[in-house]
Amino acid sequence: MPITGTGILSYRAQEGFSSLLQPGMRVIVPVGKRKITGIFIRWNDAVHPPAPEKIKEILGVLDEAPVFPQDLIQLWQWAAKYYLVAPGEMLGAMLPGGALREEEVLVKVKKKHAGEKQSPPAQTEKVNAPPTSSFSCLSTLTGPEQKLWACIREKKRVSLRALRRQFPTLVLPDALQRLVDLQLVEMQKHMRKHRAPREGLANAYLNVAEEGENARVRLSSYQQNACEKITAVLRAGDFRVFLINGVTGSGKTEVYLQTAQAALEKRRRVLFLVPEIALTHQLVAQVRARLGQRIAVLHSAQTGAERWDEWRRIARGEIDVVIGVRSAVFAPMANLGLIVVDEEHDPAYKQEEGPRYNARDLAIVRGQMASCPVVLGSATPSLESFAHCQIQRYTLLELPERVEARPLPTVEIVDLRQRQRDNAEDRETSRVFSALLRQALVDNYQMGKQSVLFLNRRGYASYLQCRSCGEVLSCVQCSVSLTFHLQGRELHCHYCGFSRQAPDCCPLCHEPELGGGGVGTEQVEEALLRLLPKVRVARLDRDSVRKKGVLSKMMESWRAHEIDVLIGTQMVTKGHDVPGVTLVGVLLADVTLNLPDFRAAERTFQLLTQVAGRAGRGEEPGRVIIQTYAPQHYSIRCAAQHDFRRFATLELRYRRNLGYPPYTRMVNVRFEGKNGERVQKAAEQFVARLTNRVVQNERGPTVLGPAPAPIERIKGRERWQVVLKGYDRALLHEVVRTVQEELIGQGRSPQLRIIVDVDPYNML
Ligand code: ADP
Ligand code: ZN
Repeated sequence: MPITGTGILSYRAQEGFSSLLQPGMRVIVPVGKRKITGIFIRWNDAVHPPAPEKIKEILGVLDEAPVFPQDLIQLWQWAAKYYLVAPGEMLGAMLPGGALREEEVLVKVKKKHAGEKQSPPAQTEKVNAPPTSSFSCLSTLTGPEQKLWACIREKKRVSLRALRRQFPTLVLPDALQRLVDLQLVEMQKHMRKHRAPREGLANAYLNVAEEGENARVRLSSYQQNACEKITAVLRAGDFRVFLINGVTGSGKTEVYLQTAQAALEKRRRVLFLVPEIALTHQLVAQVRARLGQRIAVLHSAQTGAERWDEWRRIARGEIDVVIGVRSAVFAPMANLGLIVVDEEHDPAYKQEEGPRYNARDLAIVRGQMASCPVVLGSATPSLESFAHCQIQRYTLLELPERVEARPLPTVEIVDLRQRQRDNAEDRETSRVFSALLRQALVDNYQMGKQSVLFLNRRGYASYLQCRSCGEVLSCVQCSVSLTFHLQGRELHCHYCGFSRQAPDCCPLCHEPELGGGGVGTEQVEEALLRLLPKVRVARLDRDSVRKKGVLSKMMESWRAHEIDVLIGTQMVTKGHDVPGVTLVGVLLADVTLNLPDFRAAERTFQLLTQVAGRAGRGEEPGRVIIQTYAPQHYSIRCAAQHDFRRFATLELRYRRNLGYPPYTRMVNVRFEGKNGERVQKAAEQFVARLTNRVVQNERGPTVLGPAPAPIERIKGRERWQVVLKGYDRALLHEVVRTVQEELIGQGRSPQLRIIVDVDPYNML
């Protein structure tokens, strides 16, 4: 595994194995010509089993005890069905990389040639090659075969899969056979460890200190109420979803911890999900300090093998509390008593590669299967979760006040349209900061307080444009403009990672007139240093914390007040609770608002509310200044008033009118390939088949498209999409599944990728 299209297959077990095998163990089985890792699910009790001679045998058993508890087998099957992916693919996303072994073919240079590097064959031939040496045949190789040989010779050993990637146009089996015949290379089968792709922020260094005191605080009446409601369900062993909507600093964590303790007292286990570990450092530390020693942390900076070690400890029952990022929803725990999903609105819960599952939603399914309460928490709940509360499917628990009656920060909105060219000494500085924000920054600094500046745009300028001919420099592989980074004066594509030196002249008209547009975090840093030359500033975005250890060090200095101003992208909106922060500036609230996405207003409201919540966590009250060109927009106004309910009412009305989730469900089917025409045609054929199904049913979904995706090209692949929207979830999925099966039946072209995204989040 994972093999696309692999489902549940039947095998025979030899006498020796059948006594060992228990459901949930890994086995090695043949599939076609390959050997792969699978999970043993159950003994076949089919009434008419396939003829025994047709069933292949299990080749090996990898475990002594199950690594996949029964609960998880059920969740796996549910998830594969719901997310419209093959069970094999789903399993690949569930198991940590270290667990999967896969057979691959290695192509190796034959021993006698191994020592030679680039030396010309003619020379070696004379010295030590026997007269029958294959080198004499080298001249008979065709051009592509020679290239292939040169590549293998240089690498000494290389997998067939890698060669296939490198020589997509070559008929590899034929070419390789020639090299084998000439005794240049040999092929060998071997089981390799499957390496799963690392997820986001892979380099974030983790240093979870044992901090935090053990003392129990006195709960506020709201906290008390929430704890009582949750523990009652927990003690009864029932399933129920709770949504804690608590303003920032209302003490949600305390509720999680106390209910978790109640679960542990009942000898049941706790699963704790967070959007990412590095920025939720404090929460992890608190969980460690309060919930004992039998804790496992699962995060994206671990290697597959490390995660696999943790996985087995959990499966053996040595762990009571698992805290982890989205893939931890698959932690092999039995006997769950509580599941917590912190910051449940966070898009990081949605997997955007492979099977596109949502860990928050799977947590709820898992809670139902385990019959335990599931607690979702957020200051800015997703509208999906909130709408479930309105129809009483979930229980809403509100924490409307900050602990110890600390006030919420005051929020001022600066209308950037009204901004006069105020008589700033420095035009560059006033381009970034309004007069109000400038003054506030200076005052706060002089009072010795800390400030946060938020702008959701990395780099120095989001594009370079020629002031003479208007050309905007864009990526060669993607239909997006390149971002200018000051470091090394480079242009970067944020989609494919392409980078190049920024040119001095326009590549089109050759005038030296390139200028930057769209302020990014690097430019904010520069402007701030012009305003306050002595300020101690740090920049927190994916570029600045790429190196191992940088992030945790930065957070440490930030907490120790060795940094006066922290500038950053949405990373600054998360987690860290620093009492010295009294000012938050939002440089341009419109960045997310203008995205072509029906969730743009929701994302804007969430980011603004979360970042505003960083201010005034200590004794001193906080102040927030939001700069925007859309000061009337309800997402900005509601965020300024800390009014989630009003925002939700307005936004839900809009969603209802336009038939968007949560009132409907969506599936986005994306077609990707190098050949634009073929991609378009595939999308059109898909729609033609789809409409056949849809018109047959009046509750059938609406089909939007086919249309080019908002970003039409990424990494040289053309992208088209078909969006389906329907009121009847089961029917919607059924329609897509049927068409999907028809297409698989036809055989898919390897040139074309079809990605089915159920409940899509990112539609760009
Ligand atoms: P939230 O997650 O809701 O933003 P936190 O859980 O981080 O808020 O709590 C904010 C701060 O208040 C933390 O430092 C926490 O230790 C403290 N706290 C929580 N509950 C109480 C309480 N009942 N009394 C005093 N302090 C509390
Ligand atoms: Zn690109």
